[in-house]
Amino acid sequence: MLKDFFAGFIKLHIVYHASHAPVFGLELMRELARHGYQLSPGTLYPTLSKLERDGYLRCEEKLVNGKIRKYYTATSLGKKALKEARAKIGELVAEVLEDAPPATEA
Ligand SMILES: [Zn+2]
Repeated sequence: MLKDFFAGFIKLHIVYHASHAPVFGLELMRELARHGYQLSPGTLYPTLSKLERDGYLRCEEKLVNGKIRKYYTATSLGKKALKEARAKIGELVAEVLEDAPPATEA
């Protein structure tokens, strides 16, 4: 059950980071681990593919040290989803962490 909840958090994290700069799998795995989410490549890569298929991320292949690396960037749809989620996250945080200040309008 917690896994279901966290799946949404993880997707938001990914799209958030991909909206700032192109990101690749290993880098995301480290970043998510920093936040306490231990993701295996078997979980992360299908999630990235799904986000790409759904139009939230765009994938670009680059040659790095002789290897093809897939970089993901947030699309305009991904940025729009992030913007909508941001308002809801603010509300959720304010309510769940009662003492947190209310979300400000973006
Ligand atoms: Zn993060």
